[in-house]
Amino acid sequence: MRSLVLIGHGSHLNGESASAVYRYAEMIRARGLYDEVVEGYWKEEPSLRQVLKTTASTDVTVIPMFISEGYFTETVIPREMGLGHQGPVPPEGVARVLGGRTVRYTLPYGVHPSMSQVILARAHEALPDASPEDTALIVLGHGTTRNENSNKIVYQNAGVLRQTGQFAEVHALFLDEDPKVGTWPELVKAPRVVVVPFFASEGWHTLETIPEDMGLEGPVTTFADNPHGEQTVYYAKPVGTHSAVADVILHLAEEAAGASTSDGDTERAHDAAWTTFMDRAREGLRFGEVMVQPQSGMFELRHALDEGRPGHELQTLVTPEGVRDQTRRDEGGHHRPVHTLRNMPRGWRAVLDEGDLMRAVQYLYPAVIEETYAHTCHTLRPTPWATTARRQTGIYARVQKATPAQVEEVAADVCSGCLRTRLWAGDKLPQTFFSGVPGAIPCAEACTFLVAEVREEVAGKRGGGSGH
Ligand code: SF4
Repeated sequence: MRSLVLIGHGSHLNGESASAVYRYAEMIRARGLYDEVVEGYWKEEPSLRQVLKTTASTDVTVIPMFISEGYFTETVIPREMGLGHQGPVPPEGVARVLGGRTVRYTLPYGVHPSMSQVILARAHEALPDASPEDTALIVLGHGTTRNENSNKIVYQNAGVLRQTGQFAEVHALFLDEDPKVGTWPELVKAPRVVVVPFFASEGWHTLETIPEDMGLEGPVTTFADNPHGEQTVYYAKPVGTHSAVADVILHLAEEAAGASTSDGDTERAHDAAWTTFMDRAREGLRFGEVMVQPQSGMFELRHALDEGRPGHELQTLVTPEGVRDQTRRDEGGHHRPVHTLRNMPRGWRAVLDEGDLMRAVQYLYPAVIEETYAHTCHTLRPTPWATTARRQTGIYARVQKATPAQVEEVAADVCSGCLRTRLWAGDKLPQTFFSGVPGAIPCAEACTFLVAEVREEVAGKRGGGSGH
């Protein structure tokens, strides 16, 4: 049995931030090469602290879904996942045995050599008849003084593509460092220019900053008075959203597995948690804000406050992804980065078989089944606030300055809207939904949403209200 884990950044504010990772997870899942494809996030759930617990096998490959190496791939992800590694990841990745699981952590997909093929594919989409006679290629990176690796990979890809001889010129240009993108008219001589943003996703930079800096008016723009004569620019979509990235991810995962031919086993604690959950689900179970009922060999899942409402009054969902998308926002349309906040929208029901029920519950309440079951077995170890705070780096390091009173004040506000009980603050949870109390779910460690709110408090930027 093998598990593949895709790690994204996620966002506390933007509900679309995780979409690219969802999409690649779905594409790879559909190929059936792994027993499961799991997603984890820095700022959403399951969090980096929780995600390994949600994997069903003892053989886990973790791929950072980032375009370049840097702070997240070298510091935040290994630290939060407890990989016992900090700093640059070697080409062969990092392998660790953690709690009975063999975990392989790879380089981010963006640095894999086959990304040059994705750049090429994007270039040919924008300009199918690109030719070495008259076409220049610009590989456009972000570049930053903080992360020297992010430009290295852009230069490498430009070098590889230059060698193919498919373009008259190949340039590496950047938004935030020299040579800057705005200098292209002086540098590029060819009459046709295809620009491929080496970016993870479509966003502010690809939609606004780059076109503005280059003077573009759309996917195709002709400049009549450039220093080298008339030039037409063909603007491609970012590499990170190309479907071929799924192949890059699979290459990385296979390379990380190396010569290992043996698959892992079923992870025992995970299996016990879900076996217990399914046993209860077959009897009808309420947990969190939802209820599950067996129904003619299938299961019906709905918001507990919709109990008794006729099915035709509710939107019927038939896939785990449908449940995920229906519950990503609250009824006011706001993103729900913490799924145990009491703001799940009503008005839907899902009819699912056993396997899909489990996946739907993983989307609804990531890591809740595993952590609650561990709590009932007395194996869930709380992490006190001081330990969580000490671990923070970068912009979050300032939470170490928060006084206990400040932490308590923010937590009293934020966590009062959450189903979870703060074991990390010393609160007790004698019962759980497994013993018939639907809202009883443990919180073993302050979530990143709370950490971010404490940071705002320390900075004096936190206004009134719960922040959710
Ligand atoms: Fe919920 Fe608070 Fe725990 Fe975050 S820290 S999961 S808001 S109880």
